[in-house]
Amino acid sequence: MNSRAKSLHSKLIILNSPHMLWFIFCKEEVVLTETGHIPCSDKCPVDLLPWNTIHQLPDLDGEPCSTVRIDSPVTPGTVSEGMTLHQVGLRASYFELSPEEYKMAGKAQEILYWDANTQFCGVCGGPMEKDSDISKKCTCCGKQIWPSVAPAIIVLIRRQAPSGRKEDEEILMVRARNFRGDYYGLVAGFLETGESLEDCLHREVMEETGIRIKNAVYKASQPWPYPSGLMVGYFAEYESGEIHLQKSELSSGGWFRRDNLPEIPGKMSLARQLIDMWLAEE
Ligand SMILES: [Zn+2]
Repeated sequence: MNSRAKSLHSKLIILNSPHMLWFIFCKEEVVLTETGHIPCSDKCPVDLLPWNTIHQLPDLDGEPCSTVRIDSPVTPGTVSEGMTLHQVGLRASYFELSPEEYKMAGKAQEILYWDANTQFCGVCGGPMEKDSDISKKCTCCGKQIWPSVAPAIIVLIRRQAPSGRKEDEEILMVRARNFRGDYYGLVAGFLETGESLEDCLHREVMEETGIRIKNAVYKASQPWPYPSGLMVGYFAEYESGEIHLQKSELSSGGWFRRDNLPEIPGKMSLARQLIDMWLAEE
């Protein structure tokens, strides 16, 4: 079977699968049902154009999943396949979807972003075609590519109070200029080429705040599909130095005790999960 026939064949198999979960995106928004779920139906509940490519995703709780980007937004209240549809931003979908659905929606968005940005080969400019569910190959020079993920660190820095009392311990919180809202977050930044995550941690903290840290301990990670990241969360301890904020990135920042925290980030962020872990410590 040639590759075109093969891709048509796999498309037909997808379209005939019963109870497919459809992760449908229009720009940055995802299509949901009126009950706040990913639409589930035999066929795609939105009309597709010939160039709207369907990508297969891993199963979710035994249900096959597909994702596709559409050109025109779904009008709120559209009824299709017995479901009333609307679309919301991926961030906002966190508050409607189950954690598993939200995570898969993030993966779907990353696959669609990757597909849209790799239509042509970076080496020779030839057209790229799907080689597997998660790879493409150049039709001219054979160059193979896979989706890439941009790792970033985020760190909760704690400072023991001179009193030594737990309730007087402080954490460093900063307000980044690109935050949408009045809240304070944690120091964070992207990994650079040739760096370990630990190198990145010390460099970012020094660049953004001018302080030294020690005893960094990994705590948790989180996919961050905006558009294609991975947040890696640490706890660390203050070692030395005075705070000198990097004014191009941060508008304000300082040390805060448990009982005088500023507004903190929303529940969906890893920053919030790290702060909650610290707050929950005995
Ligand atoms: Zn090429």
